[in-house]
Amino acid sequence: MQNPFEFYKENLEKAASILGLSLSDIQLLETPDRILQKEILIVRDSGEEVMLQAFRVQFNNARGPYKGGIRFHPKADLDEVRALAALMALKCAVVNIPLGGGKGGVAFDPKGYSKKEIEKVARAFVGAFSNNLGVNIDIPAPDVYTTPEIMAFMLDEFEKIHGKSEPGMITGKPLALGGSEGRDTATAQGAVYVLEELRMVQGKEAKDLKVAVQGFGNAGYHAARILHTLGYQIVALADSKGGIVRQEGLNPLEVYAAKHEKDAITALYCEGSVCDTEKLARDNARIISSDEVLTVECDVLIPAALDGVITELNAPQIKAGIILEIANGPTTPAADTILEEKGVLIVPDILANAGGVSTSYFEWVQNRIGEKWSESTVHEKLKPLMVDAFTETWKLAEEKHISMRKAAFALGIRRILESSRLRGR
Ligand code: NAD
Repeated sequence: MQNPFEFYKENLEKAASILGLSLSDIQLLETPDRILQKEILIVRDSGEEVMLQAFRVQFNNARGPYKGGIRFHPKADLDEVRALAALMALKCAVVNIPLGGGKGGVAFDPKGYSKKEIEKVARAFVGAFSNNLGVNIDIPAPDVYTTPEIMAFMLDEFEKIHGKSEPGMITGKPLALGGSEGRDTATAQGAVYVLEELRMVQGKEAKDLKVAVQGFGNAGYHAARILHTLGYQIVALADSKGGIVRQEGLNPLEVYAAKHEKDAITALYCEGSVCDTEKLARDNARIISSDEVLTVECDVLIPAALDGVITELNAPQIKAGIILEIANGPTTPAADTILEEKGVLIVPDILANAGGVSTSYFEWVQNRIGEKWSESTVHEKLKPLMVDAFTETWKLAEEKHISMRKAAFALGIRRILESSRLRGR
């Protein structure tokens, strides 16, 4: 598979030809400001010493301090972190928040580490890069396998090293340490605001739209729940263990209850691998695999699990007319081309899931001005950001007859270059 940075460059080049960018513009958008890489030493509970590779890529800060998560994953590598840092810069620019792009990672498998060992990794990461982080420099956040509790350790370590309180140096914190209300629902809510705008410009009714969601974690569950409340028909839901399809509609709250009781979506109809065929027949429902959800009959497909799941192999079978990319990078470049030719409208990740970073921005603002906003205030502030980002992207796509992905890239690039030029870069 193409590496993530190659994919970024390919999209960048497509957008560059639309905007007529110069070689020096392209070079600026391909080159991180700084790549920080250190080995961190961890003493494990057994007394064994291990060296872990830690990275922080600070891609571009023309629009504001670097912003982006830190992932703890055995496969975290520099190419991936660099691509994700670049995409963060674009994402922040698309929603027009005054932040740049960064991303970090530590290459290890946290599943094989105790809580205490993971805390040591978190503190060592901050120790390694403490002079390059800060409320006005670079603001990390959670990402794959990092949590609000880990952000709390990182904040504590940073404040110990610098001897001052600085809660805005990191976001995604627990509420008691300055985290924001509404962060857990922000990504889903942001994506729903975007889908609602698209529905309205297309003159469609929510009740006529059938939705399939892959991934039933934080983002996928809340997206299904909110859309159900708005009257969309949720016809298929799947997680890593499989899923259910029912053309007459599923209630995400019922599915959530079953999943939380028995740790699987399919628990609504099955005990392990044994399913109640009578109940399935009565409800006209069917058990499907985790991947099958991508090709079921529906109008809107929401990948909200992993990257690279929509490929040239399954793209021709996709029935949805709209794909709302809540996951980061769910569509491979080859699939993207196939779907564009088929006329499928893809709302790209850098627009669709930008509600998450927008709410991290709100957390940063609250920490800086010493305020605490309610969830409804956060959502009130989120809506215009997402609506404006959709409208600008849609306008550009219509004007230039290009896909929304190309338009979102072009919009983000235009904004980053404008700020860079004003700084004389
Ligand atoms: P999560 O860990 O809470 O949930 C992930 C879900 O995906 C789980 O239900 C899991 O069972 C499911 N899953 C895993 N492998 C699967 C497979 N092969 N097939 C079907 N389902 C599978 O994660 P999340 O926070 O909901 O994030 C989901 C995606 O959204 C990720 O790509 C993430 O990068 C992206 N995203 C999330 C946020 C956020 O704020 N949560 C923000 C931006 C982007």
